[in-house]
Amino acid sequence: MGQDTAAAAASALRLLNTPELRHHPQHGPQERRAPTSVPAAPVNLGLIDYLEARKREVIDHARTVTTRTEPLPLDDSDLYAWYLRATIGAAEADRRHRDFILARHALEHAIRLGNYNAVRPHPCPTCGGWGLFWDERGNRARCSDLDCRTPDGLASSFTLDRLAAQQVGQTEIWRSSAT
Ligand SMILES: [Zn+2]
Repeated sequence: MGQDTAAAAASALRLLNTPELRHHPQHGPQERRAPTSVPAAPVNLGLIDYLEARKREVIDHARTVTTRTEPLPLDDSDLYAWYLRATIGAAEADRRHRDFILARHALEHAIRLGNYNAVRPHPCPTCGGWGLFWDERGNRARCSDLDCRTPDGLASSFTLDRLAAQQVGQTEIWRSSAT
């Protein structure tokens, strides 16, 4: 399972990590100025922070669970393949946690790219139906089944953490992190 998820996460990361997206939409890379005297065009700091945080999570986890890490890849989109190689001999629980991180990153990158259909192949964790959709304002996946409610009568909604944990069969992860 790790291979496919790593490939999905890597291709989404490659799409996110492009100069077009890294630069602020209103001040695109076409605003060329002399790089020595004027600051560079404003960049999309939100996206850069997001990518750095995901990269840091992968590297930190790999270094926590194994000492046999290769030098980091020069190209960020090779990071997930590096992660798989680094953790191949790690303990089973650590490899399961790696698969959870990969699944969550694949979902997070897809949502970040605006591919909200990425939640649809996931069954609703509450009712098991296939009616999940992405609620952009709530920043959660919601179930479209009107009968699918929480005990207090609210529509069921889920974080990407929870969907990723369900995908890799590790619901205890989101239970312990209380999403
Ligand atoms: Zn449901």
